[in-house]
Amino acid sequence: MSARVLNGKELATKIKGELKQTVEEIKKKGIYPGLAVVIVGNDPASRVYVNSKKKACEEIGIESFEYALDENVSEEDLIKLIKKLNNDDRVNGILVQLPLPKHINEEKIILAIDSSKDVDGFHPENVGRLMTGNPQFLPCTPAGVMELIKESGIEIAGKECVIVGRSNIVGKPQSMLLLAEHGTVTICHSRTKNLEEVVKRADILVVAVGKPEMIKGNSIKPGAVVIDVGINRLEDKKIVGDVEYESCSKVASAITPVPGGVGPMTIAMLMKNTVKAAIAQAERKG
Ligand code: NDP
Repeated sequence: MSARVLNGKELATKIKGELKQTVEEIKKKGIYPGLAVVIVGNDPASRVYVNSKKKACEEIGIESFEYALDENVSEEDLIKLIKKLNNDDRVNGILVQLPLPKHINEEKIILAIDSSKDVDGFHPENVGRLMTGNPQFLPCTPAGVMELIKESGIEIAGKECVIVGRSNIVGKPQSMLLLAEHGTVTICHSRTKNLEEVVKRADILVVAVGKPEMIKGNSIKPGAVVIDVGINRLEDKKIVGDVEYESCSKVASAITPVPGGVGPMTIAMLMKNTVKAAIAQAERKG
């Protein structure tokens, strides 16, 4: 048996189409959504992500403002730029592409972003709101995973949900979102004992580790739903996930491909947050 493919590319295209319509409507009311994208240095992967985000903005009708800063920019100057963007009415959302160079403290940078423009959902206020069940902006990757699961009609309530990875941007918020949908959630990490045993319990498995094809077909429960967040570039430039697709797709009931699974959903969710931010800011202004 072969698993159902959860096609993130297709769903992301549908969501972006709906957002495009929303943007056309709000523009008639004088609301012109804008996203500032800040990139520091020349990391090729970051450049690819930033370009995809700008392209999505273009498709939907969101104006994007790129700030490409030198690798050696000081923390102080980066914070100055963010403060300027916080006060710029054309900018509804601010995205600082991570990771940042080592001399810049990411936490300080995230804290400098006005939480009402934090469309990545990384600001402590937005993290806290998510924890307490009153979210403003959901972090894009975990939100994209939830949309994929829900759109596919997969029930979460009461299911054993196992997440491998506990980062602030994927694993931790993913756990909160699955919990909010009444999943029974376990988070694994590099110190987890008997990882295989825990992974095998999962009805819904989300893997966000950054290790190429770490999870194999014989490690998962037959019929599991497997969500692969990983994006790993191999030496031959091929992109693979954290899950071995070939073997897992023979055991799982549903699986996301890489590329074409979670990646495009992350971008669609960023667009959704930006439109939401533009509408909320316009309402606040009255
Ligand atoms: P991080 O490096 O921040 O976190 C990785 C997590 O995996 C850590 O919690 C780490 O544990 C855990 N881990 C590492 N090795 C093992 C192991 N052998 N067994 C169990 N757990 C382990 O990564 P991110 O969360 O930022 O990203 C994860 C992956 O997802 C990457 O491939 C990244 O490229 C991809 N990604 C994809 C996105 C998309 O849009 N599709 C968006 C964001 C990320 P510990 O905490 O103990 O160190």
